Amino acid sequence: MAAPALPELREAVWRANLALAAAGLVTLSFGNASGLDAASGVLLIKPSGVPYAELRPEHLVAVAIDDGHVVGGGLRPSSDTPTHVALYRRYPEIGGVVHTHSTAAASWAQACRAIPPLGTTHADHFRGPIPVTRQLRADEVAGDYELATGEVIVETLEGLRLSASDMPAALVASHGPFTWGPDARGAVDNAIALEAVAAMASRTFALAPDAVEIAAYLLERHFQRKHGPAAYYGQAAGNVDTDPGRTAGPATGRDPGGDSRGGAA
Ligand SMILES: [Zn+2]
Repeated sequence: MAAPALPELREAVWRANLALAAAGLVTLSFGNASGLDAASGVLLIKPSGVPYAELRPEHLVAVAIDDGHVVGGGLRPSSDTPTHVALYRRYPEIGGVVHTHSTAAASWAQACRAIPPLGTTHADHFRGPIPVTRQLRADEVAGDYELATGEVIVETLEGLRLSASDMPAALVASHGPFTWGPDARGAVDNAIALEAVAAMASRTFALAPDAVEIAAYLLERHFQRKHGPAAYYGQAAGNVDTDPGRTAGPATGRDPGGDSRGGAA
C-alpha cells in the first residue's frame, strides 16, 4: 500500500502536536496527537520519542487502522498507536485522538477516580463524570499492552453506555488521560479542557471535601448549548473568518482560554 499524501491532515496533526506541548500538557516527549483520514482509513501520528521542538510535519508516521501497519514515514510511530487505532476502529465519528500525562488529569487517573462534574466548565465539554478504567490485568500488560489500553477504554465507555461524542475523554487507571474529538485539534481542545477541569475539581475538593455535583439540569443546559442539535454557543459557521485557535501558528495553543469555543461561559 502506497503512503497517502494527506498534506492538509499532515499540517493539522503537526500543529495539534505542537499545540499540545505549547499548552503545557506534555512532559519530556510523553504525549501524542493523531488525526485520521477517514476516506483512506489512515491515521497520522507523532513518531516515538521525537522531542516536540524538533518535530516536523514530515516526521509524522502514517498507519493503516485496519491492520495497524505503518504505510508511510521512515520513523517508528508512537508506542501508543495501537490505543489510538482501537478508538478509531470502534468510534467512526472521531477524527482525532490525544494522549498526555498532564499533571492534574493524570493525578485523578493515578487515584483511580472518575472526575465528577462540579461546575459548568466541566459541563461545557463532558456530559457527566469523566470515567476511569479498571486496572489492566497482568496478562493484558504482558500481551499487546497498548491495544489492551484502547480496549479497556472502549469497555469502560460501553459499560457506562457513554457515546464518544458525549464523553470525549477517559482516564486510564494508574496511567493518564486519553481524549478525542472530530479532528486532531478538537482532541487537543478536549485535552486542554480536561486538564483545567481536573485541576478545578482537585481544588474544589481541597476547599470543600463534601462538594456536590452540578445539578443535572444545569449540566444538560451547558452541554447542549454547545453540542446538541440546538447548539447556540459561539458564532454560526462562516460568520467569523478568524479563529485564533485554528488558523494561527502552533504557539496559540499556549493560551487554553484563547480558543473561541473554550471561553468562559
Ligand atoms: Zn502514557
